[in-house]
Amino acid sequence: MDRQHTSHIAKWIMILIGALCFGWALSSLAITSFNWGYLSILVFSALLAPRMSVALPRSKFAISFSDALVFLTFLLYGGPAAIVVAGVETLANCLYLRTKGFPFGRLMIPTNVAISTASVGFTYIVWLFVPRASFIKADPGTTQHLIATLTSLAILQFTASSFLAAVFQSLKDKSNLFSTWRRDCFSSSMTQIVGAGLAGVVQKLIYFGDPVTMIMATVALGIAYLSYRQSINEVVQANDQAEEAEREKAEAERELRHEAERHAEQLAISLEKEEKANQALRKSEKDFQYAALHDSLTNLANRKQLNDTLRDLIHEYRADSSVTFYVLFLDISRFKNINDSLGHTFGDKVLMIAAKRLVRMVNPTDMVARIGGDEFAIVLRNISSEGKAQKVARRIYDSISQPFSLSGNNIAIKVNVGVAPCDIEYIAPEDVLRDADIAMHHAKERKSGVAIFTKELRVRFLERVRYENDLRHAIDRGELSMYYQPLVDLQDGNLLGFEALLRWHHSEFGNIPPNKFIHIAEESGLIIPITIWILGQTCNQLARWQTINPQYKDLMVSVNISGRHLMNGDLVADVERALEESGLAPECLKLEITESVAMESAEHTLNVLNKLKQIGVKLSMDDFGTGYSSLSILHKLPFDTLKIDRSFVYSVGENGENSEILQTIISLAKNLKMRVIAEGIETEVQLSLLQNLGCDYGQGYLLARPQTAESAEKMLYEGKNWLPSHYVNDEEDAIDQTVQDVAVLG
Ligand code: C2E
Ligand code: MG
Ligand code: MG
Repeated sequence: MDRQHTSHIAKWIMILIGALCFGWALSSLAITSFNWGYLSILVFSALLAPRMSVALPRSKFAISFSDALVFLTFLLYGGPAAIVVAGVETLANCLYLRTKGFPFGRLMIPTNVAISTASVGFTYIVWLFVPRASFIKADPGTTQHLIATLTSLAILQFTASSFLAAVFQSLKDKSNLFSTWRRDCFSSSMTQIVGAGLAGVVQKLIYFGDPVTMIMATVALGIAYLSYRQSINEVVQANDQAEEAEREKAEAERELRHEAERHAEQLAISLEKEEKANQALRKSEKDFQYAALHDSLTNLANRKQLNDTLRDLIHEYRADSSVTFYVLFLDISRFKNINDSLGHTFGDKVLMIAAKRLVRMVNPTDMVARIGGDEFAIVLRNISSEGKAQKVARRIYDSISQPFSLSGNNIAIKVNVGVAPCDIEYIAPEDVLRDADIAMHHAKERKSGVAIFTKELRVRFLERVRYENDLRHAIDRGELSMYYQPLVDLQDGNLLGFEALLRWHHSEFGNIPPNKFIHIAEESGLIIPITIWILGQTCNQLARWQTINPQYKDLMVSVNISGRHLMNGDLVADVERALEESGLAPECLKLEITESVAMESAEHTLNVLNKLKQIGVKLSMDDFGTGYSSLSILHKLPFDTLKIDRSFVYSVGENGENSEILQTIISLAKNLKMRVIAEGIETEVQLSLLQNLGCDYGQGYLLARPQTAESAEKMLYEGKNWLPSHYVNDEEDAIDQTVQDVAVLG
């Protein structure tokens, strides 16, 4: 059974005892007992006593008149009357306190009333035996008897009431009975003693029977009561003030504590913020470092990181030549076309795919870097021989070339790879990268995909750089000139016109053949200004030659046009300007475009070619047979002439095999309503075969070598027939020209 339950039961038992006690007391009072004196006490104890009690500061007790009234009633009217007064007074007191807001628990008021009545009842029962005690004289009228009575009443009352109160208190707060009694109830002895004293004095005064003394005593007691009450109030006020001050102090302390806590919190928050800011700073520092060493698109190492690594490797290799390395330089072919035709976003995706493939192809100890738009470099370590490095390069080449599909497009990219082995002569990263780049260019030129760097390549590269530089100034320095090779009608030997061929006489190196500088001019873009210059020269030249003799009024000139000019330049405008400035009729100008160029970018080419046709110039497909023409495209292209590549003509004399090819090309041209020119006719066998096959025109050393303008002009004035039967008559001149040409070609 728990304490609460016990307390509950104890309360009910107490209430029962109290009720019995009260009932017994009430029943044992004779009706005559309720005289004026007793009724006054009852009224006083029910109405005034509760209001007159003075709470003792810092104590659970109050000085009230209850004990005095109970003891006085005891002395005047006996025990049962005192029990009734105790019950009434306690009930009135509790009810009064409740109106003042005292929180009484359930059963508390009846329990208090019961404790009060029961303890007076107990006191009464014990007191009945007190007169028999040997230390009390049995003379009720004496002061000694009064004191003994009051003392025993006070002690008994105190014992009973404090014990019962302690029992209920200890049941309530689960504390030890004795310590509860000592702490909470012991001081109540004061009220009993004071009450007993007061009761004794009042009884004495009543027995004394002198009204004056009574009044004086009452006044004195009243003054004492009031002044006591006032001093108690002052103490209470002082207490209240002290408590208030303490409360304020505690409040201020609490406020200070809160403030300190707030500051601590703010400090913690700002520390946290600072930490976060530091973290962000550290992260951005890291990001910055990362960005400084990586390519943002592919996340590969960038040129800076590559250079750092290469610098270390070169250093290591110079210290210990067994620590070898190889540098691969890769360039994606025609990446610009992907960017231009499919957009930069698409181009970026292609680069990312290429980067991923490259990383997959190498070891973790190797490094893949992106060093330019479509340029990558790979550093291979732990490779024992050049052959193995070449194998890796070839594997990378093959892997990159695997077609893939991207946004619905089938893409196949090609790369050229240059490999540079480490060398003791390398000092800076740029040295090894330059050589790998040279090898890459060589691979591109040879269309081999992969090439290993050699010193000879560097010599050629430097020569090429030199050529490119010098070519820039060649026009201004007057080093360029035009040679004219006659184009002859194979049926009647008449002169159709000339093919204009460029010659470069370098001030230092002498004559440089076209196959050594035309491609440099094309790759550097110089071919466009050079061709503009050629168009001006040749158109002017032809316009003049046409006036030599009426038979030359339709003489035409063929000018070779580079693919670069066709695709990137403003060819139509350049041609129009040349025609306009020279006054040459458009149909007297023929543009030679190689078959491979014509096929490469068919749609754009077709556009430009159609525009050229619209202004009236003629078009010739050069080197036909080498460019894998698609017949479906060929018939759409507006060419007037097919020019059979000299390789087909060349081998005719030897085994006759190519005659069938020649036949096919000639028939094809005829079917497409084009005229045919055969170039590179060197022998009479070739000439007569071509004549027999119905080839329209011819060009070749047999007929005439390329001539200087002066020499061609001289021939024009001579007005000769260009076929060999007539040519024989002019042998001396031909030999002269051949000697000159050999000198030109170096
Ligand atoms: P191409 O346009 O096919 O020019 C014909 C080439 O064949 C010329 O070489 C010419 O000298 C050569 N040739 C003519 N008849 C014979 C022959 O009977 N036997 C042999 N073996 N060769 C013969 P060239 O002048 O060295 O030009 C080579 C190439 O350089 C040209 O081939 C052309 O592709 C390019 N080229 C020359 N001049 C120019 C130019 O002004 N502009 C452009 N874009 N390219 C040019
Ligand atoms: Mg040509
Ligand atoms: Mg040709």
